[in-house]
Amino acid sequence: MTLTACVRMWRSAEHDAPRSHEARWHCLGCTLGPDRAGAPQRPLPFATTEALRITCARCQRVSARLIGGHHCVSCYNRGREAARGRNCKGSPPRQLLARLHQARLVVCDGDGIREVTKGPVVGAAEVAIALARHASGPTFFGRPPGGLQDG
Ligand SMILES: [Zn+2]
Repeated sequence: MTLTACVRMWRSAEHDAPRSHEARWHCLGCTLGPDRAGAPQRPLPFATTEALRITCARCQRVSARLIGGHHCVSCYNRGREAARGRNCKGSPPRQLLARLHQARLVVCDGDGIREVTKGPVVGAAEVAIALARHASGPTFFGRPPGGLQDG
């Protein structure tokens, strides 16, 4: 890619937020683009927040469309099947049902330190991603006393 093309793509991504399937998507967290365009560097939290905004909390895949702001279409549909107790063929979704549980973790952010329990989820990472997505500042996650009790 030429420097001119890099700068043009980076400026385009700044002007109009790209979707995850576009090549410009990678410009959002890029440090070369602003350097080459003579613009100030974006702080790291911006790139991290942008990446979390389009990451499915359950499967951690990038998805341009998150249902309820948390799950990709596939995880949302599998979650509904698990809640109903049967999939489209009428069978119980055994693998997902076996993985769903309540997960605990310790969260440290601007509001202090607290233990959070959420579920049904497939792991503590799902809870951490969901919480981090809405964080307003630095947020840390830790293991609660007794362990994560993570599936
Ligand atoms: Zn997913």
